[in-house]
Amino acid sequence: MLQLKNVDVHYGSFKALNNISLTVDTGGLVVLLGANGAGKSTLFNTISGLNKPSAGNIEFEDKILNGMKPSAIVNAGVVQCAEGRQLFPQMSVHDNLMLGAYVHRRDKDGNRKRLNEVLELFPILEEKAHQPAGSLSGGQQQMVAIGRAMMSRPRLLMLDEPSLGLAPLVVKQMFETIKQINSLGTTVLLAEQNAFAALKIATYAYVMENGQLVMDGDRETMLGNEEVRKAYIGA
Ligand code: ATP
Repeated sequence: MLQLKNVDVHYGSFKALNNISLTVDTGGLVVLLGANGAGKSTLFNTISGLNKPSAGNIEFEDKILNGMKPSAIVNAGVVQCAEGRQLFPQMSVHDNLMLGAYVHRRDKDGNRKRLNEVLELFPILEEKAHQPAGSLSGGQQQMVAIGRAMMSRPRLLMLDEPSLGLAPLVVKQMFETIKQINSLGTTVLLAEQNAFAALKIATYAYVMENGQLVMDGDRETMLGNEEVRKAYIGA
């Protein structure tokens, strides 16, 4: 579904991504592990069209994404839920969610149906629909951010550190929801520092260090890998 071939990204003279080749198969839940600063956000922003690769190719289904505008990439079905949530805190939960529907603004019936699906995933957001998004707890705000991305009807949903700053119990629920989103038919690419929880729901995983992919494998391989366990799981 998504294929990156030999992608480089520079910030000025600094090479933030070095020769990245990665595949996400349709229906997969692919996890990208890596420490702070490894380049995960840079990679997501590059797929989303916010960063321009200095070399390589990004293909999604039958389209070449590199060179496309970010809005066209969303239209093609690739939607990013950025790190740090980036909600509009004064706006209501409902209005924040509906921002994600902008790309399909002419399809009012479709958006209504989609909103119901999002509220089924996150029932608490129905109760909070008319409250300012900024008044919600961290976990609930993360639900709004994922819900807003889902309103854009992604075929590939990219989640950048959705568990960041959340309490352990909330993190657990968040991973369950991500698994559910995937099992309902959305392919997921998930960047996480919470390696163990992420690998448990992954179909496949890559490890990134200093802008390079240094290891990859399916869930069992990665969970059983001594280096991965030492560096990322701490067991
Ligand atoms: P984090 O989880 O902290 O966001 P990350 O793995 O997503 O980490 P990136 O944010 O992609 O890492 O950063 C990769 C490298 O690129 C880091 O060394 C960072 O300092 C650098 N970097 C990121 N954005 C820029 C920028 N706009 N200009 C210059 N350097 C940048």
